[in-house]
Amino acid sequence: MSAKKANLSGELKKYFGFSTFKGQQEEIIENLLNGKDIFVLMPTGGGKSLCYQLPALISEGTAIVVSPLIALMKNQVDAVNGLSSESGVAHVLNSSLNKTQTKQVFDDITSGRTKLLYVAPESLIKEDYVDFFKDVNISFVAIDEAHCISEWGHDFRPEYRNLKSIIDKIADVPVIALTATATPKVQDDIQKTLGMTNALVFKESFNRANLYYEVRPKVNVDREIVKFINQRKGKSGIVYCLSRRKVEEFAQLLQVNGINALPYHAGLDQKVRVTNQDKFLMEDADVIVATIAFGMGIDKPDVRFVIHYDFPKSLESYYQETGRAGRDGGEGYCLSFYDPKDIEKLEKFLAQKPVSEREIGLQLLNEVVGYAETSMSRRQYILYYFGEIFDPITGEGAKMCDNASNPPKLKDATDDLKKVLEL
Ligand code: ADP
Ligand code: MG
Repeated sequence: MSAKKANLSGELKKYFGFSTFKGQQEEIIENLLNGKDIFVLMPTGGGKSLCYQLPALISEGTAIVVSPLIALMKNQVDAVNGLSSESGVAHVLNSSLNKTQTKQVFDDITSGRTKLLYVAPESLIKEDYVDFFKDVNISFVAIDEAHCISEWGHDFRPEYRNLKSIIDKIADVPVIALTATATPKVQDDIQKTLGMTNALVFKESFNRANLYYEVRPKVNVDREIVKFINQRKGKSGIVYCLSRRKVEEFAQLLQVNGINALPYHAGLDQKVRVTNQDKFLMEDADVIVATIAFGMGIDKPDVRFVIHYDFPKSLESYYQETGRAGRDGGEGYCLSFYDPKDIEKLEKFLAQKPVSEREIGLQLLNEVVGYAETSMSRRQYILYYFGEIFDPITGEGAKMCDNASNPPKLKDATDDLKKVLEL
């Protein structure tokens, strides 16, 4: 083992207090420090942040970290600055800062104090900023949530598309792109757009073996969900609905049925939203009924079930949302209700969109229908979607879905025949 390896473990212990690296973290960090471009595909919770935080802390100069959400940046910066031996080495640059604060950040970069600078892409492309970055010591650039570059991803941000040309202007430094989205289409898009087709790719399995996947036809859905939740009294869960109105109605219905539930959607007053989220995180509420606005960056390890009242718009969203269950490795039940009529509604909605968006949307919906209606292993289906081969007999978690544990009966043709004969 090289001296450098031993050193990295030491640095890991020193800065983060961890004794061992998770997955491929060590290899990723070594290669980044050796100047390679790197692409990391790792499921949520896999430990992607450390792949750029540790090398940033031990490198000369400032690492630029591009991240899409101000709220996420704040959490990360607080976390880095809370590391025992390091305080004040991570900073944020975005539109929430006033002039004085911005100047302070620039001074800290110039003096070499800032090791990690989190920026929103829309800030990075500002011309004065580009000029400034050109003249300071940048160690490398990390692009977190890199799927935001792709229209095929679940969270497309147009500002991400310009990153390549901006980075080229700023410095000739290694780039590390990271995402928890791994469909081959998105991966391809990211690599092409960032000019990283020669990057070293590190991909970890997206199999979440402790999650149980079930899809039920959407019949008596209210009653079914109430029953399901009542069988899990006191356990934490999320119910996803597509519309804000549905979120509020259904949260009320659960409350009326004696379930400790709260609503969450982007239309609620900011205070209410934060309170409801905190209550859920602090276990003052068992169930949160939410639109997709809920969940990004939320790390509650003991969510025991995720219910989709309405089916999501893509398998990618389905995977991300169900993935919020069982983060601690314990039970995670993913129950979704499927009605082809809901898909038709979504198709109608897409009809109003520009052509390219519509085509992508329809393709994603087709994949959703395929998944919902399949009689094969759901885990195999999802993993195939992520470009992984999964053995539905011997693979880890093979039994953990409705189709595997209770195979659907082949459609009985005699029923159809009887109908015909009765005519
Ligand atoms: P991701 O960005 O891939 O979703 P994070 O970077 O947020 O994941 O990390 C998820 C969790 O894993 C965090 O709580 C982090 O502290 C923890 N973690 C990361 N690396 C290690 C490690 N080597 N040992 C133990 N815990 C780790
Ligand atoms: Mg992350």
